[in-house]
Amino acid sequence: MSVLLNILGEKCPKCGKGKVFAEKGNIFLLRLPKMNASCSHCHHKFEKEPGYFFGSMFVSYAVAVGEMVLFFLIANQFIESYLTIVVLIGILAIVMSTFNFRFSRMLWIYLLDGKDKKI
Ligand SMILES: [Zn+2]
Repeated sequence: MSVLLNILGEKCPKCGKGKVFAEKGNIFLLRLPKMNASCSHCHHKFEKEPGYFFGSMFVSYAVAVGEMVLFFLIANQFIESYLTIVVLIGILAIVMSTFNFRFSRMLWIYLLDGKDKKI
């Protein structure tokens, strides 16, 4: 449970105290989230090598598809038009993009570099 809270709170995978992201980003202001290079508390390096977060794109894809399917299943109960649902799903994808970016990287970090991993 604490791992899930640390992932959602964007905490360091080693100490659980330092923040992974310096800025959360805002898609409406065209700002992407910015990561800290290392943990402010334990100095754990987040990006091990160039391209370390390449795999998190696939995690982001899976998370986004999951959100879209869930939204479709809920919206399909209340909205008749498929076109309206597709447009709303497009808006949802844009609004959730910075959250998905951060969430997928956090999942990637905890998957490869969690507390019990010895890298
Ligand atoms: Zn740390």
